[in-house]
Amino acid sequence: MSDDHSLGALIDTAADADGAGLDAPHEQLPRFDRIQADAVVPAVRALVERQDRAREALEGNLTPTWEGLAAPLGELAEPLGWTWGVVHHLLSVRNSPELREAQEAVQPEVVTASLRLGQSRALYDGFRALRDSGLTLDPAQRRIVESNLREAELAGVGLEGAARERFQQIEAELAEASMRFANNLLDATKAFTLDLTRPEEVEGLPPSLLAAAAQTARAAGAEARAESGPWRITLEAPLMVPFMEHSRRRDLRERLYRAHISKASSGAFDNQPLVTAILRLRREQAALLGYPSYAEMSMVRKMARTVDAAVRLLSDLRAASRPRAERDFGELTDFARAETGDPRLTLAHWDVAFWAERLRERRYDYSEEALRPYFPLPAVLEGLFGLARRLFGAVITAADGEAPVWHPDVRYFRVADEQGAPLAAFYLDSYSRPAEKRGGAWVAGCLERKRRPDGSLRLPVTYVVCNQSPPVDGGPSLMTFSEVETLFHEFGHALQHMLTRVDYPEAAGTNNIEWDAVELPSQFMENWCYHRPTLLAFARHHQTGEPLPAALFDRVAAARTYRAGSLFLRQLHFATLDLELHHRFDPDHDDLTALVARVAAENTVLPPLPEDRFLCGFAHIFAGGYAAGYYSYKWAEVLSADAFGAFEDAGLDDPAALVTTGRRFRDTVLALGGSRPPAEVFEAFRGRPPRVEPLLRHNGLV
Ligand code: ZN
Repeated sequence: MSDDHSLGALIDTAADADGAGLDAPHEQLPRFDRIQADAVVPAVRALVERQDRAREALEGNLTPTWEGLAAPLGELAEPLGWTWGVVHHLLSVRNSPELREAQEAVQPEVVTASLRLGQSRALYDGFRALRDSGLTLDPAQRRIVESNLREAELAGVGLEGAARERFQQIEAELAEASMRFANNLLDATKAFTLDLTRPEEVEGLPPSLLAAAAQTARAAGAEARAESGPWRITLEAPLMVPFMEHSRRRDLRERLYRAHISKASSGAFDNQPLVTAILRLRREQAALLGYPSYAEMSMVRKMARTVDAAVRLLSDLRAASRPRAERDFGELTDFARAETGDPRLTLAHWDVAFWAERLRERRYDYSEEALRPYFPLPAVLEGLFGLARRLFGAVITAADGEAPVWHPDVRYFRVADEQGAPLAAFYLDSYSRPAEKRGGAWVAGCLERKRRPDGSLRLPVTYVVCNQSPPVDGGPSLMTFSEVETLFHEFGHALQHMLTRVDYPEAAGTNNIEWDAVELPSQFMENWCYHRPTLLAFARHHQTGEPLPAALFDRVAAARTYRAGSLFLRQLHFATLDLELHHRFDPDHDDLTALVARVAAENTVLPPLPEDRFLCGFAHIFAGGYAAGYYSYKWAEVLSADAFGAFEDAGLDDPAALVTTGRRFRDTVLALGGSRPPAEVFEAFRGRPPRVEPLLRHNGLV
């Protein structure tokens, strides 16, 4: 066997053993120190071909049993899945033109190979026979069989003749329309600029925004400096949002706001025809598959199960948040009138963010910058790992050097139980590296937990990726409070991936969990950033060692509920609009403008302007994965808040109660993953179905 673990060589190694056995590459950690971009294309092509051959062999010779179908199917998909996962990971954290080119070259072949698996009639019939065979399957196996059937059905496996052809055509048209929607939005966003040259035009803007605006002007070819301009503001969120919050020039805020709400709604980048076209295609697709609406179709993959259940939640939350949002708006108006000395002032859309920021400064009086010295990364990790040990009995130790990494700043950790038995491992890539790493924070699986045919266990390994401020001048990375929250959030995903006890990769960790339930453990972990004993135990000044002053913590905790009713109502507005568009709305007979106005009347305090074309920029549902799923944000928040409520009920100041409740959370939510329906997992932890009350209480809405 070759000792050369570049991707290409790994394929040869795997070929020796039919891709099985402990030596196969997908049983091991990627050799990040040796992987070369030029190995990707030949390696992936070879794996696609091998997967196709293995699929054909299985299609021709399957028996409808677990061992005769599901197990070999899982095995045959692993080598390509593992390799493609590594390529994707590297694209996200160590991007290069060579790697991007390689990925683009083979992407269509990978997609096609996966479609051939997903739409295989022979495999589908085999799974049906297995489901109906009366053979004994454990609950995880049963759920894996069911999700194979469901995904094949949603991919159109049951359609014949003209219907099948039309289905494929719709898929292609939808992909094309979504791509054009996203491109129009991008181009329309780029097409608008607000160039400022005089000091009175940038009045109120903080230094960080002036620097970013000057940098944007420089990127466009101007000689620009943060102090003297010129400054360029665009419709991109990192520039637009702080401008709306801080600019003292009401006329400029209005100009920017009006550009924002009419974005991609006219001229060369008009998304209006695409909105209608996409809704029409989705409606037709759902009808072909026998569903009353696209929203009902999407619900077969969701914990909510029915559109009614989602609508009911939105309406409960609306009842609680709308009065608060109205009160918020009244308070803001009073505040602005007092500050300006104008008793007749009425707030326009372009005033809300500005006055909300002034009121926030007045009430809570702290800045993210002032908190940073109390959150050096090593202390935050110590606090986070201590919490994982106390609650879940997970013992985390540094293992740097035991696994090859893709950048010298990346760290490697092992996770064991309290008896020392190994459970998992994870990589932590903490810092922002704009030149090669994409923004945001995420968790992905490197290896999934699996019981091998010989009975041995492959332990899960996870990527935890953040984009926080890198260390400066030899000191530690000093984190903002929201970076701390982000790390806790991502670590919740990682814990679910690592503490799983499911032995089938298809349902281990976060796999096979419904879209609207997957944010449960992540949002749950965020709550601990507001748990005074947990936070104060690790928040210490990196130079003086002085703990975070309790009064400062109290202001941070109080600010959590600031304008919560208004923020809720905004999310409810988007979620309701999304469900309405994908449920009852018929683009050929109903009036889109009337629907948008009706939903806005129910879900806003300050109704949108008549010229508002918000849908033309709603990429979540027209170019992302959130169609008929925007409500999931709130659905999962109910679960995570109620899960934390169990710890509150048990007693947040009672260490023994925290241990018992934490172990129960580990043994249910974290351990069972996608092996059971999420409602069942939740009830196993909570002893009853989820309730909305804790979410409302945490947000000051009861
Ligand atoms: Zn998340």
